[in-house]
Amino acid sequence: MKEIIQKTIVKAHLVFITLIFSSSLLSQNIPNKWDELVASDWELALKKSNYTCILPIGILEKHGPGIPIGSDLIRSREWANRATKNEYAVVFPDYFYGQINEAKQEYGTFSLPSKLAMELLEATTAEIARNGFKKIIIINSHGGNPQMIRYFIQNQLEKKKDYIIYFFEPDIPLKIADQIKATRKSDPSTDQHGGEREASEILYLRPELIKLNRSNEESGDNQARLKLPKTLYTAIWWYASYPNHYAGQAEFASKKLGRIVTENTVSSLTNAIKAVKEDSISIEIQKEYFEKVKQ
Ligand SMILES: [Zn+2]
Repeated sequence: MKEIIQKTIVKAHLVFITLIFSSSLLSQNIPNKWDELVASDWELALKKSNYTCILPIGILEKHGPGIPIGSDLIRSREWANRATKNEYAVVFPDYFYGQINEAKQEYGTFSLPSKLAMELLEATTAEIARNGFKKIIIINSHGGNPQMIRYFIQNQLEKKKDYIIYFFEPDIPLKIADQIKATRKSDPSTDQHGGEREASEILYLRPELIKLNRSNEESGDNQARLKLPKTLYTAIWWYASYPNHYAGQAEFASKKLGRIVTENTVSSLTNAIKAVKEDSISIEIQKEYFEKVKQ
């Protein structure tokens, strides 16, 4: 009896020491970027992130006359970088392959064939998973991408897999929406691409890259050339409305608006990463689904 009690005490001690050891291991500071990690820290990064990797997707395209081509990439990578400093996860390197068929008339647009873009996304997420990640969060900053990303995510049920992909889109609480409304100077309904909001975000994140004095060199107004009822959608709608691939008035940009929008996105993303790290149900249900599907 005495021996059993002693053994139990020793066991409890061992469990305690292991727990302390692993929690101190997990609290070690390691880079949050895939490309900055060393291979010998990889397993620690997997555990610390609870097997979660973020894939920030941007695009390369003109942003009006004075905002950088890579604005979307800059913003999505910065959100991921800041949020994963609050809640650890690994951030995949620069990824700028998406849907941008509507702006190929402009310099700087990098538009791969649509089939290739979808295959690249499939292969990239599969490679992320092959490296040990079980949960992949796609975050996006380009207005032309969400339909493609949602279609891609829905297609994840096509073939059995042991990882799960999520798509993050920030929410804007009423309080923040009010702050945004009070700070912006241009009409939000026309501020759609390279205008006040996007210019403000870059002004806040990378002020050295922006040339606001060029904002008026071309028109960011809606040219309203299509005369179709709202019940009809057609691909040329964007070019018909904004042939300069500029929608809004970047000259009204302010660091303050950029800070409000960025901080809200980062906080919303931080919460989403926490939720994904804690989520064990989605992947279990996905597993159950694949077991029932005859493949
Ligand atoms: Zn953009």
